[in-house]
Amino acid sequence: MFEITKRFTIEAAHFLPLVPDQHPCANMHGHSYVVEVSVAGELDEYGWVMDFAEIGSVFEPIRTLLDHRLLNDVAGLENPTSEIMSQWIFESMRPNVPRLAWVKVSETATSSSTYRPG
Ligand SMILES: [Zn+2]
Repeated sequence: MFEITKRFTIEAAHFLPLVPDQHPCANMHGHSYVVEVSVAGELDEYGWVMDFAEIGSVFEPIRTLLDHRLLNDVAGLENPTSEIMSQWIFESMRPNVPRLAWVKVSETATSSSTYRPG
């Protein structure tokens, strides 16, 4: 079994509407998000799990929706925690990437969330 991972970057703004007013994340702010997308499986006739370029093609419309946007305006991301973002990106890509294994969203160099369906 192999696992391949492709990394993308997104610049976006957000705020967290459910945290207390005094929490810093209640204020609108931005992140240089790093999104990692991983696909698992056996090798095909080309000797790879999936063409990295194809992963990029599937991600591109998602980038268009999220990059340089206020994430809270995106349907399904009204409360855009990195946890909810990782699940949202996973579910958005899954129809076109059947062997999608997990999606990781990093808000900062030290904070990330990974969604992997149970
Ligand atoms: Zn934030």
